[in-house]
Amino acid sequence: MNAGSQLGTGKRAEQPEIDYRGLFEALPGLFLILLPDDPAFTIVAASNAYLKASKLSRENIVCHSLIEIFPASPDAVHAATQGNVLASIKRVLATRKPDSMPVQQYNVRREQGEGGGFEERHWSPVNSPVLNPDGTILLLVHRVEDVTDFVLLKRKEAQQQDLAEAERARADQISAELSLSSRELTHVKQLGSEREHTEKRNNLLMRVDDAIRGLTDLHEIPRTVAELTGEHLQVNRCMYAIVRADEESFDLICPYSKDVPVVDGGYLFSDFGKNLGPFLREGQPWVIDDAETDPRTADDRESYRMAQARSGIAIPFLKDGRLVGVMSVSHITPRHWEPDEVELLQMVATRCWESVERASITRELREREHRFRCLAESIPQMIWTATPDGALDYASEQAARYFGIEPEAVHRAGWLQWVHPDDREPTVERWKHSLESATPYETSFRLRRASDGSWRWHLALAQPLLDEGGKVVQWIGTCTEIEDQKQAEVHLQQQWRIFDSALSNTPDHIYTLDREARFTYANRALLSFLQKPLEELVGNLGVDFVSSPELAEGMRQQIEQVIDTKQPLRDRSSLTGVTGEVRSYEYILAPVLTANGQVEAVAGSARDITDRQRIEKAFEESEARLQQVFAQAPVGICVLRGPQLVFELANSSYAEFLPGRVLVGRPMLEVIPEIDPKELGALHRVLDTGEPVIANESPVLLDRNGVAEHRWFNYLLHPLRDADGMVSGIVTVVVDVTLQVRARLELQRVNRELEEFAYVASHDLQEPLRMVNIYTHLILKKLPSENQEIAEYGAFVRTGVLRMEKLIRDLLTFSLTVHTESLPVGIADLSASLTEALSALKIRLEENRAIVTALALPTVRGDTTQLTHVFLNLISNALKYRKKDQIPTIHIAAKQDGEQWIISMQDNGIGFEQQYAERIFGLFKRLHKDEYPGTGLGLAICKRIVERYGGRMWAEGRPGEGSTFNFSLPRVVEK
Ligand code: ADP
Repeated sequence: MNAGSQLGTGKRAEQPEIDYRGLFEALPGLFLILLPDDPAFTIVAASNAYLKASKLSRENIVCHSLIEIFPASPDAVHAATQGNVLASIKRVLATRKPDSMPVQQYNVRREQGEGGGFEERHWSPVNSPVLNPDGTILLLVHRVEDVTDFVLLKRKEAQQQDLAEAERARADQISAELSLSSRELTHVKQLGSEREHTEKRNNLLMRVDDAIRGLTDLHEIPRTVAELTGEHLQVNRCMYAIVRADEESFDLICPYSKDVPVVDGGYLFSDFGKNLGPFLREGQPWVIDDAETDPRTADDRESYRMAQARSGIAIPFLKDGRLVGVMSVSHITPRHWEPDEVELLQMVATRCWESVERASITRELREREHRFRCLAESIPQMIWTATPDGALDYASEQAARYFGIEPEAVHRAGWLQWVHPDDREPTVERWKHSLESATPYETSFRLRRASDGSWRWHLALAQPLLDEGGKVVQWIGTCTEIEDQKQAEVHLQQQWRIFDSALSNTPDHIYTLDREARFTYANRALLSFLQKPLEELVGNLGVDFVSSPELAEGMRQQIEQVIDTKQPLRDRSSLTGVTGEVRSYEYILAPVLTANGQVEAVAGSARDITDRQRIEKAFEESEARLQQVFAQAPVGICVLRGPQLVFELANSSYAEFLPGRVLVGRPMLEVIPEIDPKELGALHRVLDTGEPVIANESPVLLDRNGVAEHRWFNYLLHPLRDADGMVSGIVTVVVDVTLQVRARLELQRVNRELEEFAYVASHDLQEPLRMVNIYTHLILKKLPSENQEIAEYGAFVRTGVLRMEKLIRDLLTFSLTVHTESLPVGIADLSASLTEALSALKIRLEENRAIVTALALPTVRGDTTQLTHVFLNLISNALKYRKKDQIPTIHIAAKQDGEQWIISMQDNGIGFEQQYAERIFGLFKRLHKDEYPGTGLGLAICKRIVERYGGRMWAEGRPGEGSTFNFSLPRVVEK
């Protein structure tokens, strides 16, 4: 650390430092502060007293070398003085201890007005070091005391002494020769005592000076002075008091006492009479010859007695008009104080307080120096100072660490070597400019970090420190690593580019506004919408670009609202683009918050929703239509949600199933309490499995105005899945088939009755018919056989009876088929059935020369005999309804269809109209009544047989093109 920089820094940086200089300059002593920059010993400060005594101006001293102000002179006296001063300072440098010099003569130039020439002056110089905490020399204090008066007095004394010697010689001579006169002798004695007194006094002052010189302890100084003074004045006590801020009380310290107890501690001036305080505050010495008789102590004699102070002197010390200290002596007996004793005590006290002041300033200076150093070393920046010509003369330890060299080496090494080669030239240029113009220096460059050899960006700042005349005395600068900031800046720029390109690839308008609603950013989409470059937007109010004033005002208020509430806001509006086209926009304004929750900006985005709105409208319309369809659908539709099967919606057709009941929002069991919960199994199955369920003619017992009513429904239960595919509900489509079911049941009932009737009729008619047959036969037998007519009638009756018999037989067969509770069920061999049927029809087949082809037939569930009946009927029909001119051909085949076998029988007969394909299976239904005999029961019987075994029967035909009769029967499943 360079002391010059330290002082300079102090002067520039902070107010308290300026105080220091002022304080130092105002010190009553004669001081110079020097840098230890051997051999220059630059003067960095001078006290006002010094300037006054030396008759020099500050400019002529400060910043000059000591040699300049003590120039080598042809004058032998002066040359010696300069040599002595330098020798003493060098001794201080070598020993780091104060060095007192013998009294030096150095004459001072006298003003022309005062007669010009030189004034004889004698000085007592002391050079002391101010040390750094590590013991190195920070500064040198050159203190001189003008002892001219003392020297001249001494000279006079010497002259007087010479004179006295002469007198004595002469007296001796006279005594020897003439016997001296007593008067002359007395005179000589007086002179001797006066001289002795003066000598003693000067001796004390010199001892005091010697003793306290170099003392730095603030208590040690007054103690030393008190001891010397007490002894010298032969008093009982010598004390000093440090006056408190109230100037009324003081802390007494008594370093010297003789034959009386030591006193110390806190006292009030008023303890020693009302006069003492005011007196001392006036700066007047308080002199008491006898406290028992002095009128000023009349009221306070007891205090003086207690203190065993019958007489005494108190010398005040004032600083800036304030009483700060008192030095006093006291005596146990009355004592007349001579004026020179008072004066001596005053001189001693002054020396003492000056010394104390000096020590406290030195201490403060050291503390400041220490503080600055600590500060400089503790902040992360490098701190440096440079001489006015730009040479680095100090750099803080951080710099040394950074560059990996010894601290002292930093400013000697030449700082440019650590600057990146590419940055050197501009750095030097900039520095030169600042040096020439005495203006602050600011630049950034890369410095090499020794720890890893990397180049890192730094910001260098420097301020010139100017003296009163505006001249640069020093530069103080800092060097701050900004690598991280630089990197952050690069990162930020990169982020910005990413952000901008990301936002510019969206068709939405995206922008940011500052708190005053001025654009700070706009993406490409917005710029092209406004047909403006970014520069034209940034810094301008966002609303200025909105064409309609009302809209602009609205947006302005919304921006304010976002800033006030810190809440985002969404709205829609229409904007007219530069092309004049009006389009709809949906926009969002959102606050951008700082880390502590303050709104620092507003981010906006606007989306063109013109097309979306159009789609939305179309969607809404179709939705409405759909809703209409749903509401008016002729089938009941409802949506059930959750395991409770809560009605979410139900159309009017559905509501009609449950008149007068509130559906929506209520669970099914609440809406239809009469329903058996078990019946909801299908619904729960759909919820559980997600599989749809279809049911036909499902019976439900519903409560209709208190009356239980059976109703039948066909329904479809379809699962409804939510966004993640879970079944959360059911859509139910229900058709009320109650009427159909009832009609069918009725039909079945009627059919049953008819069948009943057929059975009864066929059974009961057989008997009377047999009677008619027998008796007709007997009547015809008895009648004469030659009566042709009767024989003819008889034949008619017989034919009628045979037909009737056939009819009744068929009817009975049908009735039995229908009625027999349990038809034999087993495994029927269709091949066997067919063979049986063919053999029964053998003659008719041969008569007609019919051709029957059959592929292999399977075994099915049923009964061989019953199925023989089916084949018999079908083949017999094929022969009956053959074409007259063609040989009847019958082809029988079987094919598998799932769990069923389908048997088909195709003929090449007369065929029939397809529209009668159902009808021909009805009872007594016949298409060709007149031409062909028959009862119309054959197919009906076949159909019943097939159905009883779980099969189906149907026919296809075309007039003149033959017919195909099909029936299905269940497969025999191997167990
Ligand atoms: P039926 O033969 O005694 O009249 P069916 O019940 O056996 O009574 O036949 C009903 C009607 O179906 C017949 O009257 C006839 O019109 C028609 N039909 C039956 N089989 C055939 C066939 N193979 N070709 C044309 N029509 C037929």
